[in-house]
Formats: sequence, structure tokens, C-alpha cells
Amino acid sequence: MSRFFSNKLSDINPYVPGEQPKNFDNVVKLNTNESPFSLPYEIMDYVNNARPLNLYSDCDCTELTNELAKLLYVKPCNIVFGNGSDELLNHAFLAFCDDKTPAIFPNISYGFYEVFAQINCLPYTIAKLNDDLTINIKDYISCNKTIFLANPNAWTGIALPLKDIEKIAKSNPNNVVVIDEAYVEFGGKSAVELIDKFDNVLVIQTFSKSRSMAGGRLAFAAGNKELIADLNVIKYSTNPYNVNSLSQAVGLGILKNNDIVRNNIDSIISTREYVVEQLNVIGFETLNSSANFILTKSKKISGEDLYKNLKERGVLVRHSDLPEIKDYVRITIGTKQQMDILLNKIKEII
Ligand SMILES: *Cc1c(COP(=O)(O)O)cnc(C)c1O
Repeated sequence: MSRFFSNKLSDINPYVPGEQPKNFDNVVKLNTNESPFSLPYEIMDYVNNARPLNLYSDCDCTELTNELAKLLYVKPCNIVFGNGSDELLNHAFLAFCDDKTPAIFPNISYGFYEVFAQINCLPYTIAKLNDDLTINIKDYISCNKTIFLANPNAWTGIALPLKDIEKIAKSNPNNVVVIDEAYVEFGGKSAVELIDKFDNVLVIQTFSKSRSMAGGRLAFAAGNKELIADLNVIKYSTNPYNVNSLSQAVGLGILKNNDIVRNNIDSIISTREYVVEQLNVIGFETLNSSANFILTKSKKISGEDLYKNLKERGVLVRHSDLPEIKDYVRITIGTKQQMDILLNKIKEII
């Protein structure tokens, strides 16, 4: 850190992304929950029709917004697009927390929430998961804080029923409840259907996981039009051109080819069940995942050793040092072929 670095931020712990290898040859990459499926070729027409790059991108993502509004049965004023959900989440921290309104989120969840609170110098509370790694909804009932929940939750893959989110939203009428639905299509139920009923529910979804666009950086928030207007204040005060024209074009193509996305999701779900079953046969215990990844452990090997041994054999998975989950590894669900390689390597190792 240079002597010029802001004192306000001297304690910041930046987010540590999963490894991104420089060379993908012979690597089975199951560590950052991307889609194993490349974009469908139908998308090329949309890329060719993108706004020329010598011009600024459409700040309002008009076509994307209109198309998504139709798919979600909401109005365009209920949607704002962002440069990945990381940006929208950061904007939600900025817009909906302050010294009197701290943030609250679980101890085991998306690691970025704490970083966003820190970088914006906002107070926050961390609520512990139950021993079975489920969310304890009592921590959030009438808590009077700005609530950030990933549903399904990050690291665990466990989904919260919509009726619990409703209870949380109802009991905190003066606070925003942000539901980060990065993985919702893989088995959770979306809270988008709550945004008419609750003016304090903000749903964030990304194109990075189910929609094969992690490198395109595209996500959206859906909520009451006043919440969306607030997020637009932040967007127009930081970077109005936050979504580049190529990503807008590809995103539109993805929305228009929703059946392809649906097929990919179905394939991931059935591969997930297959992997969980195969791991069960060799003595692994796996949390009940509604996401495109699983958290699994075996009495025969520590989480860290399994991670390291798999890495030596060219299979990248994720491991956390957090005491509650250090026995586990987190494995992204890829194609059936990728998962068979993983299963063979695991059998070799143990
Ligand atoms: C992957 C992930 C994100 C980040 O998504 P981007 O849109 O790629 O920024 C946000 N929240 C959770 C829970 C995630 O797992």
C-alpha cells in the first residue's frame, strides 16, 4: 500500500476471486460456477447487430429491458441492468445502507457482501448460519437492517423457501431486502413475484451462471419502481454507460433464445443429481443443493487435501478456510464428461 492510499480504506480486505488459470489446456475448471456451455451460435446475429463501438452504449439498455420485462411479467420501470451483479450489489449497499441503517448478511455467503460494506464505510452485522448450514430466519425477522441474502445461498447451495423471504420482507417494512438470485434457476424459486406485493424487495439476477455470460458482465435488478429509480441515481452518478454494447447485444440474444438456456439448466440439474449419487456411493456427504454447484465432504480426506490433490490432477475446485465449511470442497457442476473425469480422479485419490 502506498503512503497515498486513503486512510478510510486502509483496513479493506479485497475479494479474492477463484483461480482463473492462464492456460486452460487439460484443466477441468469447476471452481467459479460458470456455465460449461458456450454461447449458442444463434447469438452471432445479435453480435453483428450491436451498436457500433465508436458510439456510446445505450445507458438505459432499452431493448434488453423491454425484452426482460416481457419475460418476467413486470414493467420496464421495474428493471435496471448492471455490469454484473457485483456492480448492482455494490450500488444497493450505497443506496440502501447508511450509518443508521446497517447491512446484515450471513457469515457463510457470498464473500463480496462484507467487502462492499467495507469499501463504502458502512456498518454491518454478520448473522451465523445454523449448525446444519441453513439460514436462521429469526436473525432477519424485524431486524431493522438492510438485508442481503443469496438464494440459493453461496457456498452451501441451500435454498430458502419464498414464504420465509415473505416473512422477512413483511417484518421489515422500513428496510430493503436484497435477494441475490445468482443461482435461482437451478432449483430455487424467484422472489420476482414478490415485487408487486412488497415495495422493499429487490431481486438481483446475473447472466454469469445459467446464461453462459460470465465474461460479458451482465446482470439486472428487479423491484419496485422507486427502488429502481434509486439504483439509477447511483448508476448515473458513477458510470451511466456501465453495460457495454456487445454485452447488451449478446444479452438480448440470450433472452430471445431462452429455450437454449432452459435446456442447459435442465442438463446441469440432472448432472448434479448424478454426481451427488455417485459421490454418495463412495461415502461423501453432500448438502442439498439447488444451485449449479455442490458442497461435499468425506471422512476419508480433508477438504484442503482433496482440493490440492484434485488440482495436481488438473481438476480445479474451490476450498474455504472458514471453520464451518473447511471440511468441504465446493464443486461446480459442469458437463457429464467433466464430472466423470472429476469422479475418476476422486476415486483415484481416496
Ligand atoms: C457469482 C455470484 C455473483 C456475481 O455475479 P456477477 O454477475 O458475475 O458479478 C453474485 N452473487 C453470488 C451469490 C454469486 O455466486
